[in-house]
Amino acid sequence: MFCLSDNAIQSIFCCCCSVQKSTRQVRTQTNLKNDGNSSEEYTWCPKPLSYASTRKNRSNRGCVHSSKRKPLPPLPQGEDHGEKIRVMALYDFLPRESRNLALKRAEEYLILEKYNPHWWKARDQTGKEGLIPSNYVTEYKPTNLEIYEWYHKNITRNQAEDLLRQQSKEGAFIVRDSRRLGAYTISVYSRRRRNDEMPIKHYQIKSHDSGQCYVSERHLFPSIPELIRYHQHNAAGLITRLRYPVGSMGNCLPATAGFSYEKWEIGQSELTFIKEVGKGQFGVVHLGKWRSHILVAIKTINEGTMSEDDFIEEAQVMMKLSHSRLVQLYGVCTQQQPLYIVTEFMENGSLLHYLRERQGRLNKGMLLSMCQDVCEGMEYLESNSFIHRDLAARNCLVSSTCIIKISDFGMTRYVLDDEYISSSGSKFPVKWSAPEVFHFNKYSSKSDVWSFGVLMWEVFTEGKMPFAKESNLQVMEAVSKGFRLYRPYLAPMTVYEVMYSCWHEKPVGRPTFAELTQALTDIAETG
Ligand code: ADP
Ligand code: MG
Repeated sequence: MFCLSDNAIQSIFCCCCSVQKSTRQVRTQTNLKNDGNSSEEYTWCPKPLSYASTRKNRSNRGCVHSSKRKPLPPLPQGEDHGEKIRVMALYDFLPRESRNLALKRAEEYLILEKYNPHWWKARDQTGKEGLIPSNYVTEYKPTNLEIYEWYHKNITRNQAEDLLRQQSKEGAFIVRDSRRLGAYTISVYSRRRRNDEMPIKHYQIKSHDSGQCYVSERHLFPSIPELIRYHQHNAAGLITRLRYPVGSMGNCLPATAGFSYEKWEIGQSELTFIKEVGKGQFGVVHLGKWRSHILVAIKTINEGTMSEDDFIEEAQVMMKLSHSRLVQLYGVCTQQQPLYIVTEFMENGSLLHYLRERQGRLNKGMLLSMCQDVCEGMEYLESNSFIHRDLAARNCLVSSTCIIKISDFGMTRYVLDDEYISSSGSKFPVKWSAPEVFHFNKYSSKSDVWSFGVLMWEVFTEGKMPFAKESNLQVMEAVSKGFRLYRPYLAPMTVYEVMYSCWHEKPVGRPTFAELTQALTDIAETG
């Protein structure tokens, strides 16, 4: 099959052969059938992607709540709840200081005051009051799907399939957000399929003209919980009835925005060092514990490597960035030298290392899901007008449940090393940088989008070095002339189109992260 197009064309920069260049604004021809290694040999012309502007209002909860939920007890009678919000705890929360209130999963609380988006004052049913992390609770009303154990808000198709496969139980199911805003999908495990078929089936919950919802048109329901309840007892068109709601794997507590409200200074005595896990730009990174119970990463900042005062000021802003796809900054330890930065600990280390270690063992669905995780975290940074400036696989980390989170956002601003800061320096990440960055130092969310395209390329090559054989200077010249990275053979054309769209020479020509999230979800759902 051949594709003809009149779009602005950039040649593909091929690592395995010498640099090639094609004329722009020309008609090119691509053999789309050729899906293997030989893709590197072709000049390819990307279709402009049509992005629906459908930013999803995603929650920041990456982990899902566990099963065996108790029925909700009634609120105490005769109390004036006024405008106060009733919430239900999704996780247990142990108080960390006297101001905190303990939370017990599935119990109900009243929110008295929202101190900031992340820490709220709440009252429990015995009348005790205190501060709680807002991402540990959800509004308690029947229309809020988050109160149901089968609902997983923030999960990719691939992660849903993994979760169900781990259960391998006939009729195990979850409900998740669909790629269409406000729509939902039921994912269900059943072995009653032909051998070559996946044991997991995905059903869209559709809306009827009457406003009711359905999976099978003969059975309409006023709400999703009612639909699920019905199909828990009757297959009625599904491959099996929905037998087992699958919650989270239990012990996965999300990180909080700091250890408590406005607590960003951490005392050295609160930290225990366990072992060294890596070495970075500023110094050694340790696995450690905060107050002997929360696992943390402790980054040592060697003297003279960072403009410390500027960072300490900014740390208070960065701590308020809180999302399930960002490595959470918990606080800083500044009362002594060297300074320490304390963050969420990520059991599986850097994404780059993770990819290289598992070469040949990661399927395309997993690779796409990794890109979706990063894209979602970047969408959050973009919506907060926060620029990463050094997005790359080496700056993403992998959790114990293999979720990818973005790390080191904004940190390059505090590096004291000319080799790293200056675009002609040997450590400057030229190969991840947009042309306006290496020419004019002009950073924006759109320059992050360029780097995201390169990160997608790293993911789909299972951790190869982009432009491996070229020097930084050669890459700057070639990229300025229009050369781009080739299609990794694990990347289907649809995926390559998305990464390629990130490399438009002009920032305005690149998609936003919100649009990229949508494009990647579409591919994950439809292939
Ligand atoms: P730099 O300051 O140069 O960006 P990194 O943040 O990349 O340093 O840290 C160096 C290495 O330390 C990483 O590649 C990773 O292996 C390990 N590391 C850093 N942060 C964490 C973390 N939060 N959890 C687990 N390992 C980490
Ligand atoms: Mg790093």
